[in-house]
Amino acid sequence: MNIHIARYSLVATASILFYTLFSNLAYSQVADYELQEIKPGVYVVSAGGTNSMFLVTQEGVVVVDAPPAIGDKIFAAVSNVTDNPITHLIYSHAHKDHIGAANIFKNVTIIAHNETAKILNERNDTNRPVPDMNFSKEMNLSIGGQVLQLLYPGPYHQQGNIFVFLPEHKVLMAVDNVVPGGLLWKHLGVTPDVPALIKSIDEVLNLDFDVFVGGHGQPGTKQDILVQQEYVNDLRENAMAALNEVNRTEVIQGINGSNAITEAYFNALTKSCADKIDVEWQGKLEGVGVWTDEHCERMIISERVD
Ligand SMILES: [Zn+2]
Repeated sequence: MNIHIARYSLVATASILFYTLFSNLAYSQVADYELQEIKPGVYVVSAGGTNSMFLVTQEGVVVVDAPPAIGDKIFAAVSNVTDNPITHLIYSHAHKDHIGAANIFKNVTIIAHNETAKILNERNDTNRPVPDMNFSKEMNLSIGGQVLQLLYPGPYHQQGNIFVFLPEHKVLMAVDNVVPGGLLWKHLGVTPDVPALIKSIDEVLNLDFDVFVGGHGQPGTKQDILVQQEYVNDLRENAMAALNEVNRTEVIQGINGSNAITEAYFNALTKSCADKIDVEWQGKLEGVGVWTDEHCERMIISERVD
């Protein structure tokens, strides 16, 4: 990525020295995270391949997501840059890998989409408390002189997944959407709704941001998201081409049983799409070839049913 990111040493040098000398265990617990200031007062904390973000305001600190992989390292990260207390916790969506450590936050106001609240009411998981405030389409927050817009673009990954947009900082956090420089996760980011995923990428690009923060991986730029949009469009074109070009009668010749016939046909469709994607995208995104089959198959199913 091209944006400038100030990389912070993980904890104060003296602490690292202390822990290195006296306790390897404490050192790894405290220091095993990355803290990046992506804009003045806006930080990304990363550990175990998962991100959370926080915004320092005059009143207090607003945290987005509480991944178990980060756990209480978030408190070390926050106290590394401010003495202000954490006052708000926003859930990007209901999945455990992003909010499964929410229970360790005390005396905070938890905010999420109302679909997320509904899911968490059903899960009844003490690690993921039900939010105190929720909304359906959009919520504008003004906290300590800072503006946060919470937007619902539709279920690109899970019902209730939201965008957290900081218009003054031009920062957008969209968790488990596209991955800058890499591939969407398995089965197109396990989307329940491929058209909603495609629409969400358009909505990302309509926002005026210059730093994109995902739930996993490094932050990216708007250019990274344009590349992701191109990849998804290309998948869709090749999925449609496969449906037009693969000769079902030829493919299923000699195969018996309706499931076996369906499988043979879908395998042929998937191969037709994936072979082209692999050639076109090799070297352009990290991991091309690993999930191409899954991405093509998911897109082909969507083209047939959505
Ligand atoms: Zn998720």
